[in-house]
Formats: sequence, structure tokens, C-alpha cells
Amino acid sequence: LEYSSRTLELLIEALCRLPGIGAKSAQRIALHLIQEGKGEAEQLAQAILDLHNKVSSCSICFNLTEEDPCAICRDPKRDESRICVLEEPKDLLAIERTGIFRGKYHVLGGVLSPLDGIGESHLHIQELMKRMHPGISEIIIATNPTVEGELTAAYLARLLKPLSVKVTRIARGIPYGGSLEFNDMVTLSKAMEGRLEVES
Ligand SMILES: [Zn+2]
Repeated sequence: LEYSSRTLELLIEALCRLPGIGAKSAQRIALHLIQEGKGEAEQLAQAILDLHNKVSSCSICFNLTEEDPCAICRDPKRDESRICVLEEPKDLLAIERTGIFRGKYHVLGGVLSPLDGIGESHLHIQELMKRMHPGISEIIIATNPTVEGELTAAYLARLLKPLSVKVTRIARGIPYGGSLEFNDMVTLSKAMEGRLEVES
């Protein structure tokens, strides 16, 4: 036993499994929660429980939401003719933060990755195709600039082209292998502004 308490050790182990939290941070958080008294620990525990009780995916765009459809899908002021296609909800947050895009979104829930056995059926691609109607003028593909992101973009472009809709890809302002999430808002805004039509 590394710690004097099995309970403490279990909490530290659980915290260590969270993304971005190493052993030292986990220990600091656990000790902080003991020192701060029961109130703070209860608030944190409740917030974590509420996540699964209250937050789910929007049935239209697959963004995270407490109300279905989500606020963006319900917003009549947003441009229904343009849909920005993304990998994960965090990418949607990154683009929303720039304020540059006023259309709608579609979250794929990942990228095509043949090596990991992730194919079309694992992503919300059929749901995107069902959203297509003549009123849609542009699909902006904003998957990350990774091998899988590019593969997914090319795949979507091929699927969408026969529907005679303009398919664009956000510009390469983002370094290859990077992620939308970690790019500053100026770079992301420029990538969105400089998007190019996908040739196929
Ligand atoms: Zn939605």
C-alpha cells in the first residue's frame, strides 16, 4: 500500500486514469479534497453523476446537450444551409469559440480508421446523409489534419459530391497532425475563412 488509506489510493488511481492527469496531480487533487472538507467533494461527485444523468447526444447533430435537439439545432437564427462536419464535440466547442461560423454542425463521433477497425458504420455518417436536402448549399469538412482526418474528409467528399452540394475543407492553417482543439482562435478562424472546395 503506497498510501495509508485504501480509499485514498482508489481515488488517486481513478484520477490517474483521467486524460492529462498524472500521478502527482492525482495525489494533489485527492489531498485537496480531504483538506477542503466534505462540501467540495460532494459538489464534485454530484457534477460527475449529473454528467451521465443529464447530458446526452443531440439526435440531429450529435453535439452534447441536456435538451434534444440541442440549442444550436433549435436556433432559427443559424444558417441552415451550411453544415460543418467535425470529429468530436470538443472540435465543435473550438469552432464555436471563434464565433466565425453561424451555420449548423454535425459531429461524426470519430474518424475512419481501418487499422483500428473503425468503419463508416461506427460514425454518424448515415445520419449526415439523412440530413441532406436541396436547401443545403455547403458542407464544410473540419476533421483534424491527421491521416485519418484526411481519409474521412475524402470519403465524405466522395459520398456528398453526387448530391451536387458544395463540399469544402478547412484550410491547412492547422499544422499537420495537429488538432482543432489546441489551435488558437486566430488560426482556426483563418482555416475556416480560407476553406477550399474539395475536388473529386
Ligand atoms: Zn444538435
